[in-house]
Amino acid sequence: MDFELSDTQRDAQQRARAFAERELAPHAARWDAEGTFPRDALTQAARLGYCGLYAESRQGGLGLGRLDATLVFEELAAACPSTAAYLTIHNMVAWVASRWADTEHASSWARRLTSGHSLASYCLSEPEAGSDAASLRTTATRDGNDYVLEGTKAFVSGSGVTEALLVIARTGASGAQGLTAFLIPASTRGIQLGPPEEKLGWRNQPTRTVHFERVRVPADLRLGQEGEGFRIAMQALDGERVNLAICSVGAAQAALDAARQHLHRRSQFNRKLAGFQSVQFKFAGMATDLVAARQMARLAASMLDSRSPQATVYCAMAKQVATDTGFRICNEALQLHGGYGYLRRYPLERYLRDTRVHQILGGTNEIMRVIVSRYLLDEVTAGGGDGL
Ligand SMILES: Cc1cc2nc3c(=O)[nH]c(=O)nc-3n(C[C@H](O)[C@H](O)[C@H](O)COP(=O)(O)OP(=O)(O)OC[C@H]3O[C@@H](n4cnc5c(N)ncnc54)[C@H](O)[C@@H]3O)c2cc1C
Repeated sequence: MDFELSDTQRDAQQRARAFAERELAPHAARWDAEGTFPRDALTQAARLGYCGLYAESRQGGLGLGRLDATLVFEELAAACPSTAAYLTIHNMVAWVASRWADTEHASSWARRLTSGHSLASYCLSEPEAGSDAASLRTTATRDGNDYVLEGTKAFVSGSGVTEALLVIARTGASGAQGLTAFLIPASTRGIQLGPPEEKLGWRNQPTRTVHFERVRVPADLRLGQEGEGFRIAMQALDGERVNLAICSVGAAQAALDAARQHLHRRSQFNRKLAGFQSVQFKFAGMATDLVAARQMARLAASMLDSRSPQATVYCAMAKQVATDTGFRICNEALQLHGGYGYLRRYPLERYLRDTRVHQILGGTNEIMRVIVSRYLLDEVTAGGGDGL
C-alpha cells in the first residue's frame, strides 16, 4: 500500500492549485455576494480538461482515475468550495454521458460536456422523492421514436445556466427497476424553470425546480437501457460522494490555514493566540481530523478506481466522515477568529455556509449511515458480503 502521491499526481495538484489561486480565489467572495455564476472561470477550467476529468477519453474526457480527480477538486475547493462543487456535478454528468452514450446524438452531447462547451445539471430529486429517490414520479412514456416526459424535479443545481440535464424518469413499474436515464437539452420545448432558490450557501450557482410538461425527447438521448436508470444514478452518486467529501476537505484545509495565520498574528492577554495551550490542542485536533478525512476520501476514490465490490460502502463512509469533519473544522476555524470569523471580509463564514450543504446532498449523511449499516447488518450478517 503506497500512500505517497506520484510525481505526475503532484504536478496535477500543483497545476490545480495555481489555477485556483489565479482564477477562483480572487473572485470567490464577490461571486458569493453577487450570486454570479462563474462561467468564464469554468471555461478556463475546461481548457485544462477539468470538465471531463474522469470521463472516458473516447468521448473527449481526460480519463483520469477518481483518486487523481480528488487532487484537483481539493485544490479548487480550497479557493471556492461552491465553484468546485458545481464542477463535480458537471463531471459526474459528463462521466455518465461518456460511459453510457451509445448513439451518435448522445455521444455528440457527451463530447460537448467533456470539452466544457456545454454545462450540465443532474435531475434526480423531486419534491416528494428526496432520500427515497427510487419513489420518484416523473414519467417518460414511449411515443414512436420519442419519449414524452411529465413531472417535476427539485433542487436542480445549475439549472438556468446549464445546457444539458441528466434526468432520471420512470418508464416502467414502481420502484428502482422502473427507472431510465436521459440526457436532455435544457432548451427543449416544455421545460419550465422555477425561480432561483434563496440559499444559505452555494450562492454563486442557481438551484431551481425544473418542470417537464409534455417534453418530447428523442429515444437516441436515452442513456443505457430502459430500467437501468437507478443503477446509473447510484453509480454516479458513488463518485459524487467522494467528490463532495474532498471538496469539504479542501475548504477545511483553507479554513485551517487561515486560522493558523490568525493565531500567529492576533494577541490577547499580551500573548499570541497560538501561545495558549487550549488553542494549540484545538488546532492539533482539527489538523489530525482533517488528515483522517482526506485519507478516507482518497481510500474511497481508490476503491472506485480498483472497482472494489465494497466501493459503495466506502464512498458512503467517506462522504459522511469528510463532510461532517470538514464542516466542523470550518466552524472551529471561524471560532478561532473570534468576531472576525463572522465578518464577510474574512472567508470563514463563506466556507461554513458552502460546506453545510455537503452534509445534505448526494444523499444525506443519515442515508450514508443507512447504506453502511445495511451492508454490515444485512448483507455481511447474511453471508452475502465480505465485511470491511
Ligand atoms: C443546495 C442543494 C443542491 C442540490 N442539488 C441537487 C441536484 O443538483 N440534483 C438533485 O437531484 N438533487 C439535488 N439536491 C437535493 C438533495 O440531494 C436532497 O435534498 C437530499 O437527497 C435530501 O432529500 P430531501 O431534501 O427531500 O430530504 P428528506 O429525504 O425529506 O429527508 C429529511 C430528513 O430525514 C432524514 N431521513 C430521510 N430518510 C431517512 C431514513 N431512512 N433514515 C434516517 N433518516 C432519514 C434525512 O436524512 C433528513 O435529515 C440538492 C439539495 C440542495 C439543498
